[in-house]
Amino acid sequence: MESSLENAHRQLDIVAELLGIDPGIHEILKHAKTTHTVMVPVRMDDGKVRVFTGYRVQYNDARGPYKGGIRYHPDVNLDEVRALAMWMTWKCAIADLPYGGAKGGVVCNPKEMSLAEKERLTRRYTFMISEFIGPHRDVPAPDVYTDSQTMAWIMDTYSVIKGYLVPEVVTGKPISVGGSEGREEATSRGVAFCVRETSRAFNVGLADASVAIQGFGNVGANLAVFLQDMGCRITAVSDSTGGIFREKGLDIGKLLKFKRDTGSVVGFEGSEDLSNEELLELECDFLAPAAMENQITEKNARRIKARVVVEGANGPTTTEADKILQEQGILVVPDILANSGGVVASYLEWVQNINRQHWSLEEVNRHLEDKMVKSFDRVHALSKEKGVSMREAALMLGVGRVVEAIKTLGLFP
Ligand code: GLU
Repeated sequence: MESSLENAHRQLDIVAELLGIDPGIHEILKHAKTTHTVMVPVRMDDGKVRVFTGYRVQYNDARGPYKGGIRYHPDVNLDEVRALAMWMTWKCAIADLPYGGAKGGVVCNPKEMSLAEKERLTRRYTFMISEFIGPHRDVPAPDVYTDSQTMAWIMDTYSVIKGYLVPEVVTGKPISVGGSEGREEATSRGVAFCVRETSRAFNVGLADASVAIQGFGNVGANLAVFLQDMGCRITAVSDSTGGIFREKGLDIGKLLKFKRDTGSVVGFEGSEDLSNEELLELECDFLAPAAMENQITEKNARRIKARVVVEGANGPTTTEADKILQEQGILVVPDILANSGGVVASYLEWVQNINRQHWSLEEVNRHLEDKMVKSFDRVHALSKEKGVSMREAALMLGVGRVVEAIKTLGLFP
């Protein structure tokens, strides 16, 4: 199967051809500008020392400071982080944020670690990358299995090193220490805006639309709430333990409580069990992969029966699968557009921090909606104008803006 990095590179090659990118600039875009690997020693609760591998890939900063999340996951590897950093670069450019792209990751299993172990890991990792990050250099944020608490530890560690409080060094912080209203749900709110705009632009009715969501973490669970509020019927959801289905729609409010109490969505009253693979192949109006990469591949793409795939996760569809979906007339709203609400709200948090302000939820959401709708419209218009898919159009917009910045800056020396 295609790896995420191969997927990201193939996308870049496709768009280089579509845009006629200068070969020298194409060459620059194939590589991350800087890659940091750190071996992070941590004293575990049993007194033993373990060494974790951590990465920070700084992909491109032609449009502004590096920006992107940090993930904690046993499957993290350098090529995956590179791919995710490349996608962050295009994502920030599509949203027209003054940022470049980066990503970080630590190979670990946070589900098997205590809070204290996670804190020690986070603080030591931060210490080891502290020279390379900063409010105007590289601004981390949460990603898979990291959260606002992780960001608070990063900010505190960085601030201890500097000798003064630097809230603007990370985004996605708790509100009590400079986080923004609405940041936590922003990725899902952004995906929901994309669903709404898709329904407008492509005439897919929203009332009673059936929705299947893979992943019930921060992105998937909040998305289920927003889409249910918009009148959709959430017929299936899944998490790492398995999935559930109910034709008439799941009561998401009750399901959230059930998941909080039992740690899983499986066994929810009135639902049938189904596997993560089966969920992807359900007949539905909207399918939202909101978990990990490489879920829709050339193996299952022909069995996808959704009308629209809206990518809450990063890189859930391989390039081969993307082609198959297109042949089958399935519309794909790509990750770098659909899930950009998270980084848009991160930008709003950073702006508030730099100006020592705190905006209301209404104000944050107004800016978020404005940005999301603008990006969606630009991508949709470009896709119509050039006769390309929404993904190709999104890449053309994002990569095109980065190319423009690189050209204008020129090459040093
Ligand atoms: N990790 C999120 C993403 O993949 C958010 C990144 C950020 O806010 O910097 O888009």
